Amino acid sequence: MIYTDTRDSSVKVDFKTAVLNGMNSKTGGLYIPVEFPRLDESILKSNSEPSFRSVALEMAKPYCKGEIPDDDLDAIIQDAYPFISKLNQIDPITYILELFHGPTCAFKDFGARFMARVMSYFNRENSDNLHILVATSGDTGSAVGSAFHNVPGIDVTILYPEGKISPLQEKQLSTFTGNVRALKVKGTFDDCQKLVKTAFVDEDLRSKFRLSSANSINISRLLPQGFYYMYASLLAKAKSYISNKLEDPAIIVTVPSGNFGNLTSGLIAQKMGAPITGFVAATNSNRTIPDWIATGKYEARPSVETYANAMDVGAPSNYERIAAMYSLEEVRKLFASYWLDNDGIIESIKDCHTKTGYIIDPHGAVAWKAWDDIRSGCLEKLMGGLKGDYTKPGLTANVPDWAKEVVNKNAVGIILETADPAKFGATVKQAIGKDPIIPDRLQKVMQLPDKAIPMENNYETFKQWLMENL
Ligand SMILES: *Cc1c(COP(=O)(O)O)cnc(C)c1O
Repeated sequence: MIYTDTRDSSVKVDFKTAVLNGMNSKTGGLYIPVEFPRLDESILKSNSEPSFRSVALEMAKPYCKGEIPDDDLDAIIQDAYPFISKLNQIDPITYILELFHGPTCAFKDFGARFMARVMSYFNRENSDNLHILVATSGDTGSAVGSAFHNVPGIDVTILYPEGKISPLQEKQLSTFTGNVRALKVKGTFDDCQKLVKTAFVDEDLRSKFRLSSANSINISRLLPQGFYYMYASLLAKAKSYISNKLEDPAIIVTVPSGNFGNLTSGLIAQKMGAPITGFVAATNSNRTIPDWIATGKYEARPSVETYANAMDVGAPSNYERIAAMYSLEEVRKLFASYWLDNDGIIESIKDCHTKTGYIIDPHGAVAWKAWDDIRSGCLEKLMGGLKGDYTKPGLTANVPDWAKEVVNKNAVGIILETADPAKFGATVKQAIGKDPIIPDRLQKVMQLPDKAIPMENNYETFKQWLMENL
């Protein structure tokens, strides 16, 4: 596969270059495949239940062709995914796609684990290690640390702001051993980011070590997230056929979004033939994308803190990819967009629990409310000419192409549940009055000894540490 760049379509690189570079430092653009080949019709048209790992392998093949032989790719997928996503039906037309069954209990495990193994594969002929530096404000660091743990040829240094992340998140970052270690920096997330960025352009370090990043713009994190969209939409189609005799339901996927990596992966799966009719882009009060869809103007802004804090992003990095793939008019036909404030998040967790018995986390809650509003008549009102007010929580006023399917009761919804509710126990308890069950693997992490290394917020000190310890 050839990969080009969102800012310069004359750029042509292979998968290895796109993965190891992360982004194109010459243009500042993001890598994107030149095509999204459709899966074989025998897979897309089947009415039987798909296998997650076979779907994953078929989807990954074209992007790795000529660079990773099929047998090696299969081994990467088997090793990356000892767990899979689970599709849970919570009412006759609503499914929850649970993406939190990986080691760190959030959906980022799907992308990070594939990326780690692909990087290790491309590094296998080098005798010296590849050093990953990553600054994190929480979830990304634990997914990346866990994904690279014990992966040969690579070591990882995670920087996080001491005292500024939740105790559970801190435990998840600071208890790694072996090839992954964490530095607790006396500063903010931005300070951590700055230390890492300065290191990447430091010639002394670059001449001595092979440094790389592992952030969410890497194409090898986006592609594997497409696997579960394909798997879940084929499964929902098969289930609807078996249980409701709904031959060809319109499948609407609602995605809790921050950097819009997850949603971009959904768009890729749809281009590859996933039977998805439309998307709902759901955000918290960081409503940069809903505002863009409503007004046509894209305005990045500082982020604000919310209960769904993994989505606290004011300048979503994958906007650039979405805008490269579609015009604004196409986006308005493809997506509904929706946003919810903190009060709405609490209400939604409660409402989902009351109506269905399902305990949802604050991120999934944004998506649940969006879907529940949509199927209970919100879109119908918009089609009837009601003007939405985009500055208030709720649906943006564009009417997507698929709205009529919902009105005609031919649609089923898939809500992406991106984290285990136990990771956000306090917020869930505030909403429903009880604590979610803590999974064993989170409980275990809480018992492990803290191994984080204290670090001053000072570049020279950080550099000296790298020189002595990498
Ligand atoms: C990262 C994250 C999101 C946002 O995903 P994007 O790909 O950045 O849009 C949503 N929920 C949880 C729990 C996350 O960790």
